[in-house]
This record gives sequence, structure tokens and C-alpha cells, in this order.
Amino acid sequence: MRLTPIRRAVLEALLESHAPMGAYEILDALNAKGAQDGPGESKAGRGLAPIAVYRALDFLIEQGFAHKLESRNAFTACPHAHAPHELVAFLICETCGGVDELAPAPLAKAVGQMLAQERFAPRRQVLEITGACAHCRD
Ligand SMILES: [Zn+2]
Ligand SMILES: [Zn+2]
Repeated sequence: MRLTPIRRAVLEALLESHAPMGAYEILDALNAKGAQDGPGESKAGRGLAPIAVYRALDFLIEQGFAHKLESRNAFTACPHAHAPHELVAFLICETCGGVDELAPAPLAKAVGQMLAQERFAPRRQVLEITGACAHCRD
């Protein structure tokens, strides 16, 4: 899969971050990076328009490289090599902001059966569970 410089830069910013990032946080990170690389050296970054980041995010989500967390209006890189439209569950810690992505096979199977029964074609199957992570709950 070939990535354009902007798409690659957005994905790298998400991979480097330990917490989900908003589109403007990504934009700031890319612009800061562009400044570090010096003028002309980085095609991504440096005076990027927000729309360029949103377009890159749409592509990364469509291809399964990243997910959007609707409850946080934020984006996170996908650590799994699952199919783009497969069911995923996010455990979102409200204390530290950490996010764990799980792809639980039994849950995906159960939901898949339910969807088949309803003859429903899913486009997005993202379960967002908020609470306290193992480190923060104690
Ligand atoms: Zn994923
Ligand atoms: Zn936590």
C-alpha cells in the first residue's frame, strides 16, 4: 500500500502518540515537524490545511490503518491487521486517556450472526467502552 507523504505523516503522528489525537492536534504535530525538518525538506507538514488532515484521516480509516473514536472526536492508529470493517472494541480510560483496541473474535461472531439475521450490511462496527483502565482503577 503506497501512502502519500501527508497520509504517511498523519499515520506516523498517530503511531507516535500514546493517546488518541484530535485532527487539530495532528495538524499541530505535523506543522511542528515540518518546521523541524526545515523549509522544503518535508512535503507533509508546514502550513497544512485542516482539510488535508481530514482527507488523510478519511483514507487511513477507510483502509483500516486508523479508527475514529466518536465519543472523543479523536483518531487513533490501528495496531491490528484486521479488515477495515471488522468489529473492534475500544476501552477508553477517562482518567489517563489511554485507549486499548481489542478485536474480540467471539463478539465479532455474535454481532455478525445478528447482522446476518437482520440482513443488515454494516459499514462501521466500533464499540466504545469508557471507564477506568487497570492502572487507574486502583
Ligand atoms: Zn483496528
Ligand atoms: Zn488509565
